[in-house]
Amino acid sequence: MRIIDRINEHIAAGEPFFSFEYFPPKTDAGLNNLYGRMDRMIDLGPTFVDVTWGAGGSTSDQTLAISATAQEFFGIDVLMHLTCTNMTVDRLDAALDAAYAAGIRNILALRGDAPQGAAAWERVEGGFSYAYQLVEHIRARFGDSMCVGVAGYPEGHLEAADRESCTDYLKHKVDCGADFVITQLLFDVDEYLAFLGRCERRGIDCPVIPGMLPIQNYSRFKKMATFTKVSVPDSVAAALEPIKQDDAQVREYGVDLCVEMSRRLLEYGAPGLHFYTLNLEWSVARIVDALGLRADDVAERSLPWRSTDDPSRGGEDVRPIFWSNRPESYLARTANWDDFPNGRWGDRRSPSYGTLNEYYLMRRGIRLAARDAVEQVYGEPERVEDVFQVFARFCAGEIDSLPWVDGGLQGETQLISHELVALNANGYLTINSQPQVNGVASSHPELGWGGAGGVCYQKAYIEMFLSPERLQRFLAIVAEFPSLTYQAVNVAGDAQFNVPPNSVNAVTWGIFPGKEIIQPTVVEFQSFMIWKEEAFAIWKQQWGDFYETGSRARAVLDEIHDSYYLLNIVENDFIRGDLFAAFRRLDALEHDTATAVADSSA
Ligand code: FAD
Repeated sequence: MRIIDRINEHIAAGEPFFSFEYFPPKTDAGLNNLYGRMDRMIDLGPTFVDVTWGAGGSTSDQTLAISATAQEFFGIDVLMHLTCTNMTVDRLDAALDAAYAAGIRNILALRGDAPQGAAAWERVEGGFSYAYQLVEHIRARFGDSMCVGVAGYPEGHLEAADRESCTDYLKHKVDCGADFVITQLLFDVDEYLAFLGRCERRGIDCPVIPGMLPIQNYSRFKKMATFTKVSVPDSVAAALEPIKQDDAQVREYGVDLCVEMSRRLLEYGAPGLHFYTLNLEWSVARIVDALGLRADDVAERSLPWRSTDDPSRGGEDVRPIFWSNRPESYLARTANWDDFPNGRWGDRRSPSYGTLNEYYLMRRGIRLAARDAVEQVYGEPERVEDVFQVFARFCAGEIDSLPWVDGGLQGETQLISHELVALNANGYLTINSQPQVNGVASSHPELGWGGAGGVCYQKAYIEMFLSPERLQRFLAIVAEFPSLTYQAVNVAGDAQFNVPPNSVNAVTWGIFPGKEIIQPTVVEFQSFMIWKEEAFAIWKQQWGDFYETGSRARAVLDEIHDSYYLLNIVENDFIRGDLFAAFRRLDALEHDTATAVADSSA
C-alpha cells in the first residue's frame, strides 16, 4: 500500500504514527538477527519501515532483499531508499523494477552522499544530479502507483548555501511529485518547528516527519552529530558529559530525551515520528511504550501466525502448525498453490507445492548464516548428547538460533521453556510447541490474536525428533493417555500414527464478536508428510553439511538424521490435559528399566 495513504489516514484520525529505519547488516549472521528484530519490532505497530541504500549502491542487493522480505513476509509497508550515487538511469530503473515486482510501492528518492574516499559528490555519466530528478523519473515511470518520499534538512544540507535556499530546493522536490518529507536527524525541537514554519511559508503542504535518533552510545552519537552538523542543545551536551563512559546510562538518557522531544514535536505539529533505529530494538521499544504509541491494547497479532499483505493471500486464515517457526518457507512452498477456498486447503498434493530450493533462494544468506551459527554457537558435537545440549540451550534462551526456527524462541514457547529444557537435555529434541490455553483475552501479549473482544484457545502441541527406541516406548504407553493424538515418521517414510490419514485437527481457535469461530492453525496429516522432508533435510543442509566429510560431528548428525523419528503430539483435552504427563511416565519407565538392569548385573 502507498505509505502516504496510511499517513493521511492517521492525520485525519488525529493519531500520531511512527516508523523504523533499518540498514543492511554487513554479515549474514547479522542479517538473520535483523530479521528476528524486525519481526518483534513490527509488533510494536509502526506504520511503515524503511531500508537504507548503502553509500554508492554498495548494499543494493541486500537493500532490495530486506525490503522484499519485510514487505512480503512481515506484512508491513516498506519504504525503500534509493540514491543516485554511482547509478545510471538504467541501473536506477533496474532497482525500481525489482522493487516494484517485489510489491514495494514506496521509495525514498535521494541524491545520496559521495562514496567513501571521494572528495565531493559527482554525477555518474547517464545518471541524475539531484534527488528531484529521481522523483520526476519515478512519477513519469510509475505514475501514482508509487509513493515517493524525500529528505529534508531542518538545519540546512551540508552543501547548501543557507536554510532558505535549501527549503526552496525541497519545495521543488515536492512540486516534482514527492508525497512526504523525512527530516535529517535532530536533537533540537526548535529547529524542527522553525523548519515547519519555513516549509509552510514556501507552500510545502505535505507531511514533514521528524527524524529521531535515540542516543545509544556516546561516541557514535558524537560522530553522527559531527558528520551531519546538526545542533546539539547545551542541556543535552551537559547531561551527557558526566555519563558518557557508561553506555547503560547513556542509553537510558537517550530514551528519556527522545520521549521528551517526541512529546513536544507531536504537540506542536509533527504528524508522526521517524526513528533511526540503527537496527537496535531496546531504546525504540521503550520510547514507543512511554509515548503510548504501541499498537493498541487489543490484539497485537491478527492471527497466531505471521500473515502477509500479499493480496492473493489475503483471504488465508488457516495454516498447518508445522511451519509456524518458518513462515517464509511456508509461503514459498505454497506460493503457487491452487487456492484457499473459504480459507481452507486446496489440494495439498498439488505439484505446485513448492520445493525446498525455493526457500533457500528467497532467504539469501541463510545458509551462510547457518554456517556462522554452526561454527560459533553449536560447536562440534562428538556425541548425540552434545546435540541434546544445543537444543536445551536454545530452549533455555542461552543461544538464539536453531536451524528449524527462524528468529528466537516465541513468546508463548517461553511459557513452557522449563519443561522443554528438561525434555531436550534428555534427548527429546523439540522443534515446535505451544502450551494449551483454555480461553484468554485476545489482547493477551503472548497468547492473544484476532480482533478486539475475542477469546483465544489452543491445544497443547509438541513436535520433536526422538530415537526409534524412544518412539517404541512412547507407542507402548500412549494408550494410557487417550486424549493424545500423534503422528510419527522417519526419513525413510516409516509412519506411525493414531489419527485417520485425512484428518485435520484445529489446534488454535478463537471466538470473536459477530463472527464464526476462527480456526487458524491445524495439525494435518498430508502436510506433515510434506513438512517431514524439510525437517529432515535441515539436519544436513543447515547443520551437518558444514562439517568436514568424515568428521565425527557429521557422523553424529547423520546418525540422528538417518535413524530418528519426527513425532508430533496433540493433547486434545485443552482443559485438564497434561501433555508432559506422558514424558514423565516414559522417564519413570526408563528409570525402572535402568534400575532393573543394574540390579540384575549386581
Ligand atoms: P538533494 O535534494 O538532491 O540535495 C543535494 C544538494 O543539492 C543539497 O545541498 C541541495 O541543497 C542541493 N540542491 C537540490 N536541488 C538543487 C537544484 N535544483 N539546484 C542546485 N542545488 C540543488 N544517503 C544514502 O547514501 N543512503 C540512504 O539510504 C540515505 N537515506 C537518507 C534518509 C534521510 C531521511 C535523509 C535525511 C538522508 C539520507 N541519506 C542517505 C543522505 C542523503 O543522501 C544525503 O544527505 C545527500 O547528500 C543529499 O541527498 P538529497 O536527496 O537530500 O539530495
